[in-house]
Amino acid sequence: MSEERTEKIRSELMHRREHLLIDLRQKNAEAASLLDAGVPDPGDMSLIDYLTDFLHLLGDSRREEIVKIDEALLRLKEGKYGICQRCEEPIPLERLEVQPYAPFCVGCQEAIEREESLRSGRPQEGKL
Ligand SMILES: [Zn+2]
Repeated sequence: MSEERTEKIRSELMHRREHLLIDLRQKNAEAASLLDAGVPDPGDMSLIDYLTDFLHLLGDSRREEIVKIDEALLRLKEGKYGICQRCEEPIPLERLEVQPYAPFCVGCQEAIEREESLRSGRPQEGKL
């Protein structure tokens, strides 16, 4: 990969990271102000619970993305960027354009997702 391209990806990743951090801070502030506002009516309690959960989930997905971006930046630094972390084949550029921090090629990503759903879908592990 050319120096120029690496630099472009790095700045895109940094930009995305910055955006996510700002977003995360905003969401946290929103959640905090919601809680600070108190519950005007006991009937609203479930709404506040719902909103707080929702904001937490949102925050978690942002945090996960930031971690992925950090990992991609590290791979970029080590010259391993764009290489599938599982089969070590190059990840197609079209995929990296859509998801610049993708650690796996499409095939491996699908295999991992299948494995994960198998694992979580298994009823009572160890009791076959
Ligand atoms: Zn792969």
